[in-house]
Amino acid sequence: MKKCIACGMPMKSPEDYPLGDTTKNYCKYCAKPDGSMQNYEEKLTSMTEFVVKTQGLDRQVAEESAAYMLSKLPAWKKERS
Ligand SMILES: [Zn+2]
Repeated sequence: MKKCIACGMPMKSPEDYPLGDTTKNYCKYCAKPDGSMQNYEEKLTSMTEFVVKTQGLDRQVAEESAAYMLSKLPAWKKERS
């Protein structure tokens, strides 16, 4: 089973993939309507909103937390250590 490289969500069925395309390594939540992957800024914004909504943090804190989560994912890792 693949995991989305951009948000870490396990992708179990074709419906989890953008436009049902199982050759992609990111999920439909990380894709734009045309099926291409969101960029870092777009993903950070949506992740921040998700954290605000689910954890009730204020935006500043939520953004830091979202940036930390994204830094752990293969799509956004800047350097290998
Ligand atoms: Zn994803």
